[in-house]
Amino acid sequence: MTSVEPSSSASAPLLSVEDLSTEYAVDGRVVRAVTQVTFSVGRGEVIGLVGESGSGKSATGLSILRLLPREGRIATGRVLLDGKDLAALPEAEMRRVRGGRIAMIFQDPMTSLNPYLRVEEQLAEVGVLHLGLSRKQAVEEAIALLDRVGIPDARKRAHGYPHEMSGGMRQRAMIAMALIGKPSLLIADEPTTALDVTIQAQILDLLRELVKERGLSIILVTHDLGVVAEIADRVLVMYAGRIVETGPAHDVLRNPYHPYTLSLLRSVPRLDQRSARLESIAGMPPRLDRGPFTECSFAPRCPFVRDACHRGEPALASPASQPARLRRCILPPEEVRP
Ligand code: ATP
Ligand code: MG
Repeated sequence: MTSVEPSSSASAPLLSVEDLSTEYAVDGRVVRAVTQVTFSVGRGEVIGLVGESGSGKSATGLSILRLLPREGRIATGRVLLDGKDLAALPEAEMRRVRGGRIAMIFQDPMTSLNPYLRVEEQLAEVGVLHLGLSRKQAVEEAIALLDRVGIPDARKRAHGYPHEMSGGMRQRAMIAMALIGKPSLLIADEPTTALDVTIQAQILDLLRELVKERGLSIILVTHDLGVVAEIADRVLVMYAGRIVETGPAHDVLRNPYHPYTLSLLRSVPRLDQRSARLESIAGMPPRLDRGPFTECSFAPRCPFVRDACHRGEPALASPASQPARLRRCILPPEEVRP
């Protein structure tokens, strides 16, 4: 898992998201789910995308693949895959990108498996379409992959229908379906949340192997900072549709520079304190349908808030001499301490 420096031209990023803003129209109001999000993903790089519920993680993933629901739209920005603007692709070409170069595991597993098709047919279809396999090869590939994601008796299961599987197995079948087209980039939206710990570990191992074997890049959306620590090279922390902090995962998790990241970390139970109550973050995230913010989005909940925080939203910027780290906060990093 070597992270690719976005600035090095020899290894230009696989994906660049530039100034992405995404809106939903709700009852005549506009909800700005994503605001000016910029980041890149290198080849073989794993990005952990974290943040509270409603922070815009799924909207970011759906925007990249142009899979927003009817009421959603990309308001600004570009998404470049190998330097090519995905927004400019005709829908027919975009369909070839989906499940091909970029695959997504959706947060809601029930939406992505067709109940009327045998599991092997759905998976094989992807193999035929994106890899040019024969149907027979594609079915064999599907069975091998179902086995790899830990589905017992994979051949028999593959021949059955989704409703004959448990929720956990369906989730794993979806992971297999996302991987069968050998994508360059996997956007995985809470792929393991519903799975028990052992299977979750098995899936993370598989993803890590694919990163090593074929340089798979991953955007992993999760609530679980433990998972991020285990697998991600870099972390993006979202709050109210904005990136509020980003940097190498180990540095950010060990030494956060944004009070929101610190709060998230403090709301996670330590392994040795499983039974301890979570410290949840007091207060509510701001409403996203009231136009541009006139203060720091986290100011109303921030334990470190000061007058200057109410005078406009801080830019996403690096502290002196730390170009790999960015945070949207005016406090000196050393003051963001429990
Ligand atoms: P979670 O962790 O709960 O999955 P998330 O970070 O994925 O949260 P999003 O689903 O991206 O959050 O939602 C971002 C914002 O956009 C939220 O305020 C949400 O209410 C709003 N939103 C999402 N989908 C729609 C929709 N179809 N119509 C209107 N608003 C939406
Ligand atoms: Mg989501």
